[in-house]
Amino acid sequence: MDFNSLVLKVASRCNLNCSYCFMYNLGDTTFKRQPKFMTADTVDHILEKTKRYIKKYNKKEFSFLFHGGEPLLAPKEFFRGFIDKVNHLQKELKEVTFSYDIQTNGVLLDNEWISIFNEFNIAPSVSVDGTEKAHDMFRVDHKGNGSYKDVFKGVQLLKQKMDFADIACVINTKEDPIETYNSFKKMKASYVNFLIPDYTHDSYPFDKNKTEMADWLIKLFDIWIDDPEKYKIPMFIGLLNSLLRIEENHKNEVTVLVVETNGEIEAVDSLKACGQGFTKTGLNIAKDELDAIEKTSLGKLYFNNFSKKLSRQCQECPLQEICRGGRLVNRYSKAKGFNNPSVYCNDLIKFIAHIQHYFITSFPNLNEKENIQAIQPEEIKAYLKSISKKIHTYKEEELESFAKNNNLIEA
Ligand code: SF4
Repeated sequence: MDFNSLVLKVASRCNLNCSYCFMYNLGDTTFKRQPKFMTADTVDHILEKTKRYIKKYNKKEFSFLFHGGEPLLAPKEFFRGFIDKVNHLQKELKEVTFSYDIQTNGVLLDNEWISIFNEFNIAPSVSVDGTEKAHDMFRVDHKGNGSYKDVFKGVQLLKQKMDFADIACVINTKEDPIETYNSFKKMKASYVNFLIPDYTHDSYPFDKNKTEMADWLIKLFDIWIDDPEKYKIPMFIGLLNSLLRIEENHKNEVTVLVVETNGEIEAVDSLKACGQGFTKTGLNIAKDELDAIEKTSLGKLYFNNFSKKLSRQCQECPLQEICRGGRLVNRYSKAKGFNNPSVYCNDLIKFIAHIQHYFITSFPNLNEKENIQAIQPEEIKAYLKSISKKIHTYKEEELESFAKNNNLIEA
């Protein structure tokens, strides 16, 4: 198994009510049966199972990502207690380096929280969706009030006290990409992880033949690449490295294992957007080992190189090595499970072609030597359309087994 990280849902409720949230507002209501906070007993089970997993797979590094809901709703003592227990574990696992991250909506950030982050080396990432207008369109509290002003203050505090401001931003194509880029410059962000929304083929609200997302990303890329004081955008760096063949672009979705607030073990939580109970496995940290996930149907797909288990169209696609079929959640439909190209397929083709064209014109000598052909999006689309949809491979059958939620445990 190749995961070195556990996502811990330390709190199952949130002080915000973002309309696109996969936890609460995209079709899965199983959070309602979760306890509000993770208990000390669940933590003990997690650390016991983590110890066994590390020993079995000889891991040298392991990280815990505190997540929710909103993790800052959990009591501060929870974090002190957790890290104290890991420090005890460290005595037995001397060669292992443990690290901690936290994903927060930033509303509750204050000096006391930042002291805890500094004391225990917890690296925070804050969810901000760009400008105040874009952010407050979706990231609202339970009364519908925008949260931007509080979050902005929280990020400034992080910057002052930790000299550090990592951001996760769900792309909002209704806001201007240049304004979005500049809003993070104003915030003095060091790193912005732009995320494509968790839409499936069933929930996608836009016209699939249009390329709103690609047009948005192209504008963002163009301003970013020319900026001498750019902040890091991992999506762009990954694609450039992949086009330059510096590394495989297999990191379009890092594999993580999730432990829910009540100890349930699940695969990546963005798949909650696929429907009610979709990520449920019947496993619980109190009775099961971490690697038991590999025996579940979703675990087999997700932890067994899902970026190589592709629909017929993606298998035949000339951009397959770069795109890898897009994110798993964006491939899903109730009719065909994961046997689809990404719902953003046309956007991905256009955007990858744009980056490649930039690359070709920027390095003409290299291009001459390697004789790189410029990607023509319309030719690729026409070719993909011509592929017979009738031929099925064993990979496609596995992908279609997830259709109509037929693998689910009823919530
Ligand atoms: S560009 Fe489209 S067809 Fe090609 S790999 Fe990506 S999602 Fe699949």
